[in-house]
Amino acid sequence: MTEPSAGGDDQLRRTVTLLVPVFDEEEVVDRFHTEVSAVLAGLHSYVFEILFVDDGSRDSTPERLARLALADPRVSILRLSRNFGKESAMLAGLDVVASDAVILIDVDLQDPPALIVEMLAAWEEGYDDVYARRRTRAGESAVKRASSRWYYRLLQRTTRIEIQTDTGDFRLLDRRCIDVLVRLRESERYTKGLYSWIGFRKKEILFDRAPRAAGRTKWNYPRLMGLAVDGFTSFTTTPLRISTFLGLIVSLAAFIYLVVILLRTIFFGIDLAGYPSMMAVILFLGGVQLISLGIIGEYVARIFTESKRRPVYVVQEHHRGDPR
Ligand code: UDP
Ligand code: MG
Repeated sequence: MTEPSAGGDDQLRRTVTLLVPVFDEEEVVDRFHTEVSAVLAGLHSYVFEILFVDDGSRDSTPERLARLALADPRVSILRLSRNFGKESAMLAGLDVVASDAVILIDVDLQDPPALIVEMLAAWEEGYDDVYARRRTRAGESAVKRASSRWYYRLLQRTTRIEIQTDTGDFRLLDRRCIDVLVRLRESERYTKGLYSWIGFRKKEILFDRAPRAAGRTKWNYPRLMGLAVDGFTSFTTTPLRISTFLGLIVSLAAFIYLVVILLRTIFFGIDLAGYPSMMAVILFLGGVQLISLGIIGEYVARIFTESKRRPVYVVQEHHRGDPR
């Protein structure tokens, strides 16, 4: 995994791999290749490889990729044995990349290829992790924007590492970052946090995110909710602590109340009213207990998945292109 750079070129040009995860993207792969080639054509001082990680596509994407590879020697294809999800596909790509830097980019042209030029310029200045941050979130509902803002605020308050907002996977990573990222083998990968965790010199580039060129997004609300929970369980144990404190506070209150009832019964006799208040307390505590159990369950589930130590992805085949 830590091979030296593949810059076997006599002119000592540095090598850069565009790492493109694709899953059922027959409508856009060709267009992506055309647009990216146009940008790369203006960059003579680098050796490029375009690595498509086919994340188990079920449509004609594999055939289209194979055709691209025939026509363009810079194209490499890493095909996974089934759909493992974008995060795993990216790790698969990082594992095989031998270049000096990698640029992670979506195939649907939501990440403008033109930004590659700026990223490379920042890399030349010595930055290790150059990431693109959305200036606007056009085309997203107010509810989605608000919930995302609150989520990140909450996550940020509970963890010590800085979580970048409005930032996706569109970024350039230096060899240094790649070498560290591939050592983080957790299976439910929350890459947004991992990029921050590794540290190194970071630089932000602002851009306007375009709508998808064609095809459909694979994200839906349940999947987003799952990712949101992963964000917490992989980067902070604060929820566990909150439930501990909540338990302490409630028990303390209950103890005080117990003493009050005891004293009242001794001095003023037995009084049997209070069914509604008892129901309220029981239901409230039942709810609190279920939530706490759920929180513990989330962490136990994480331990369960990680303890199986399964590989994060399985490769079906790897076609190595000829970077130039
Ligand atoms: N993708 C993938 N595996 C998946 C889902 C998505 O490799 O299981 C790829 C997809 O082909 C695209 C990128 O990840 O290149 C981003 O996916 P998408 O556009 O659906 O996400 P969004 O841009 O809506 O966040
Ligand atoms: Mg997209």
